[in-house]
Amino acid sequence: MPDQIHVPEDRVLEDTVVAPGKPWSRLLRAGEYLRLIDLEGQQAIDFLCYNADDPLDRYNAANTIKLNGNIFLGKGSSLWSVRTRKMMTITEDTCGLHDTLAGCCSRESNAARYNVQDTPNCQDILTRELETHGLGERDVVANINFFMFVPVSVNGDIAISDSRSKAGDHIDLRAEMNLLVVISNCPQRHNPACGFNPTPVRLIAYR
Ligand SMILES: [Zn+2]
Repeated sequence: MPDQIHVPEDRVLEDTVVAPGKPWSRLLRAGEYLRLIDLEGQQAIDFLCYNADDPLDRYNAANTIKLNGNIFLGKGSSLWSVRTRKMMTITEDTCGLHDTLAGCCSRESNAARYNVQDTPNCQDILTRELETHGLGERDVVANINFFMFVPVSVNGDIAISDSRSKAGDHIDLRAEMNLLVVISNCPQRHNPACGFNPTPVRLIAYR
């Protein structure tokens, strides 16, 4: 529904489409927003954020799970840092059940899981983008996968399952501190993270 994803022009800081296999990053000031739009549906967005004023204090999956009391992210969830500072709050979400557990795809994990070599992957994409900000491989921590569905059974079985997101689904995040946000639009073709067909996403930074 185009109406639902419209942001008034005078509030838009950046509006861009990111192809699958491409990165995006931006500094967001406290109080600014980022909207992630899954244009065609079933497209995982690998997401990390760092305190712009102190990048050692970065998104932490364990604190986020504990403080939200849930392994999934959705409207009302917050993203918490290593030092348990609130980094972002999800203010709108049309999809729900976003993944905190499975981390990013890598060349090595694709080889181990699918017996394929030298695949494009989010680990490399995130690393290269972080390098443009003076960070790098050691800063790729367990990330969020927006629009990716990883259900967990009562005995602990997990699997990357068919994505629940539909074309036009979107999520709004409010920055609660000055942040560096780094994204890889996932190129995965060997599991359902991207519906076996990676597609573009639209990102709108706004105030
Ligand atoms: Zn990926």
